[in-house]
This record gives sequence, structure tokens and C-alpha cells, in this order.
Amino acid sequence: MSARLELDNVSHRYGGDAPALETLSLAVEPGELVALLGPSGCGKTTALKVVAGLLRPESGDVRVDGQSVVGTPPERREAAMVFQKPLLFPHMSVARNVGFGLRMRGARRDDAERKAHEALRRVRMESFADRSPEELSGGQQQRVALARALVTGPRLLLLDEPFSALDANLREEMRDLILGLQREGGHTTVFVTHDQEEAVVLADRIALIFGGKLQMYDEPQAFYGRPATREVARFFGATNFIRGHAENGSIRTSLGDLELEKPAPPGAATLTIRPEAVRLEEGQNSFQARIVSASYLGTQVHYELRAAGTTLRAALPPHVRLAVGEEVTARLPAESLWVLEEPSAVSYQ
Ligand code: ATP
Repeated sequence: MSARLELDNVSHRYGGDAPALETLSLAVEPGELVALLGPSGCGKTTALKVVAGLLRPESGDVRVDGQSVVGTPPERREAAMVFQKPLLFPHMSVARNVGFGLRMRGARRDDAERKAHEALRRVRMESFADRSPEELSGGQQQRVALARALVTGPRLLLLDEPFSALDANLREEMRDLILGLQREGGHTTVFVTHDQEEAVVLADRIALIFGGKLQMYDEPQAFYGRPATREVARFFGATNFIRGHAENGSIRTSLGDLELEKPAPPGAATLTIRPEAVRLEEGQNSFQARIVSASYLGTQVHYELRAAGTTLRAALPPHVRLAVGEEVTARLPAESLWVLEEPSAVSYQ
């Protein structure tokens, strides 16, 4: 059975001033796949090591099904970790590598062998059972490492950038494999990556971390449509920001009064809208604009529009061909406009 994982105000410092993790709190539901995403050095691996028990946090708690595991050694946590490099024993066959953990726990040889073959079948490596790891490609070795993690029936599967050393095709294969395993086994999985696309494809929810601090924890679509801050919005690709002032539910901006789906609280507000959501049509929230640049990208054309001193980006399908200098009517649909939160107002409890 998969477990519920909670990190509660976890902080860690390796020495020096800047903490590697600062009051990180998040809960992963049983069977959920969560990606820890963020730029290099943001603390993702530190968080995973804390969960695995390879690192004792300076403060805070880690709970599995409601029970603290901070004092529990890694081998008793029922968590299995797969590292960026496969770390297989070169002098053992693939099957013995996979069964090794079971043998160490006192399993009988035939039992370990049977379970190792079953785990290899799950990662589609059964026909390689008698090979030496040295005879395998990087992607195959990584699949064996995954089988080794699965063989003990862990309640938590922890993956630290397991595909980053693989080429694009193999990475895609591994993604499919992880998604397949997730569907059949329902492991609670925490997955570290710095690749935003990988997180979006794989994760039920993404925890975005910058500088040891959680910025946003939500389902992938929310990072495009409902980002918490400017930095979060930018990390997920090109976007527009529009400053304004909320009054009577709509936002007064240089482009006119913009209506939202839900009224915003009064005061200064920054709106965001993705270039793909900008429309060239009359209607609610429309205004006159001039095309100032156009770049043809095959599947899309990217335009810069200028209106009332504001420059906006719009990404449109390639059959819409507009010339630089042309006057157009642009519209910002209410359902695609989002008011950013102040960083201090963001809470994830
Ligand atoms: P990457 O994607 O590059 O692996 P990361 O997000 O996983 O990065 P961590 O490895 O958790 O980041 O590191 C977080 C911070 O802690 C970094 O500033 C790093 O330099 C520092 N750090 C990590 N391990 C140690 C260590 N053993 N001793 C001292 N500082 C460390």
C-alpha cells in the first residue's frame, strides 16, 4: 500500500548562511506523483534526502501516514530512491543486482530471484536478467535501478533526476514507464527534476522551489493559468504582465477597465495573461492595438502588440498573418486573466 507523506516546516542548512531548505511544508497523498521542480541548487535533492532519511533536517518534521520518521534510519523507512546515476554492482548479474536488497533483508535465494524477475518484467528488462550491468546502455541500467527500487515493494518511491543523463528518446521512454508503473502500482512518488516540461507531463502536482523556499504547490495547469507570483509565471514560459488598480471588481489599466471572472479585492494589482490566450477580436476587454513585431515560428506566429504605452505578446495560429504596423482589435478574455498574489500572501498549508 502506498503511503501519505508530509513535510512539515522542514529546514536544513549545510553550514554557511543561506539555508538549503527553509520551512518547506507539503503533503503528498497516497498514490500521488509529485514533482519537486526548480533551478539547480534550489534544494530539491536536499528535500528528497530528508524524506529518504539520508539527511536529518535541522528542524521540522517528516511524517509517513501521520507518524514521524525523522529518527528512523533509511533502511526502515520503506522508501526506495533512484539516483541520477544507476550505481549497479558490476560483478553481479542484473537479476542479482535487483534481488540484492531482498537478500540483505534475509529473503531466500529463490524468493529473491522470483521477485527480481517480476520487478524486471515491470520495467521491461526481463530478457536482460543474466547480463552484466556493463553490457547495458545507460537507459537500460537506469531501468534496472528502477526495478531494484521497486522490488522491495516500497511505500514511497523517490526519484532524483533519474533521466537527466539520458538522450531525448530514452527520456520519453522512461517517462512512459513511470506513468505506466504509477497506473498499475499506485506508488506514492516524489520526483526531482529541473525540467519544467518533464514535471508537467509526469506529475499530479508540482512543488516549485526557488532558493530553498516553496513558491507554489498545485496541479500543472495552475502554473500556466493561475501562477502565484511573477517569478512562478516566468518559470513556466513567456507571459504578459499588466499593472492596474482594482475598483468595483474590475481592474483599471492603461488598456481600459478589464473585467475578471471573479472580482479582485480593491488596491494595486498585477494581472498576467499567456500570449496564447490573447485574441484578436471585438468583445469584452477589447482595445485597439498596433502590431510592432511578428516572428513566424512554424506552428505559431508571435506578435508584439502596442496599446496605450503597454507592449503585449500574442501567440496566434500561423494562418493569421498580420503585417507590422497594422491596427488590430485585441481582446484579453476574462477567463484567462489572473491576478498575481503578493509573495508574502502565498501560503501552502
Ligand atoms: P541540482 O538540481 O543541481 O541537483 P538541487 O536543487 O537538488 O540542485 P541541492 O543539491 O539540494 O539542490 O542543494 C541545495 C543547496 O545546498 C545548494 O546551494 C548546494 O550548493 C548546497 N549543498 C548541497 N549539498 C551540500 C553539501 N553536502 N554540503 C554543503 N552544501 C551543500
